[in-house]
Amino acid sequence: ARDLHTWFELRQWGFLRVGAVRAVDGVDFALAGGEAVAFVGESGCGKSSLARTLLGLHRPTRGEVRFAGRSLGELQGRALKAYRAEVGYVQQDPYGALPPFLDVRRILAEPLIVHGVRDRAERERRIRAALEEVRLSPAEAFLGQFPHMLSGGQQQRVVIARALILAPRLLIADEPVSMLDASVRVEILELLRHIQRERGLTLAFITHDLSTVRHYAERIFVMYAGRVVESAPVDDLLDHPQHPYTQALIAAIADPDAANATRLREVPAGEPPSLLHPPAACRFHPRCPHFMAGLCDVEDPPDFTPRRDHRSACWLHR
Ligand code: SF4
Ligand code: MG
Repeated sequence: ARDLHTWFELRQWGFLRVGAVRAVDGVDFALAGGEAVAFVGESGCGKSSLARTLLGLHRPTRGEVRFAGRSLGELQGRALKAYRAEVGYVQQDPYGALPPFLDVRRILAEPLIVHGVRDRAERERRIRAALEEVRLSPAEAFLGQFPHMLSGGQQQRVVIARALILAPRLLIADEPVSMLDASVRVEILELLRHIQRERGLTLAFITHDLSTVRHYAERIFVMYAGRVVESAPVDDLLDHPQHPYTQALIAAIADPDAANATRLREVPAGEPPSLLHPPAACRFHPRCPHFMAGLCDVEDPPDFTPRRDHRSACWLHR
């Protein structure tokens, strides 16, 4: 993704222009084939809009997404269809993702039919293999089930099977476990990580939960107000956070009580900035304990490299 911007025009009563919601506001990154990364940030920081832009569901306002050497904006017709087969998507809410009146066999057959797998026996073979891969086993027991007959965790496994059935090279999972019971979250995350390794997939997690990323991502991108403010290999990011926002997030995980008592006064949690009227220059400056007037609120901090392979967009590194 290069200089990626996805803005949404906001209108009142359908015509009065209120402004642009800057959901993705200047994001640059490259993913290597076969790596597992996580985009982390509070809700409303633009993570899902970024995911949907990568999927080609939103057209970027500026900048571009390139995949395997081709610009997504130039893909049309068959090439666009092929791209959709190469990028799988697991969304947050399995209940909303699965059509209630189709059984599991039909749900998994759908993408195969759309992408031209005409042979019925071949479809059946791939459907069964997909169910086994997400450990809905034996497959026979699940083929005739409807979504409401399955638990939340089983539903999310079906969603994952559907996302994998066309053998994508990239899988984007947007908060894949946030709607599930705590007891099945780890299982689903481990399943995704296992499949990623087995298949050599590129896996992009979208999450608000920094506390579990060490277990399933190799590299982290921290997002704030539509931008990536810090990125690094997971251990380096968690053990040596460079950006004040990441430091505040990690402090809040390490000691929730202390965070409530002291940190939160400086860095109020759960108050993400407006993407309609984002703060000038460094988006984090109204909440930052290291705010430098006349600099942080005037000039955008560029990406610095305070450590090897570790980027942080903060003036403190200058
Ligand atoms: Fe804080 Fe300034 Fe760094 Fe922004 S640029 S995070 S306001 S110190
Ligand atoms: Mg979201």
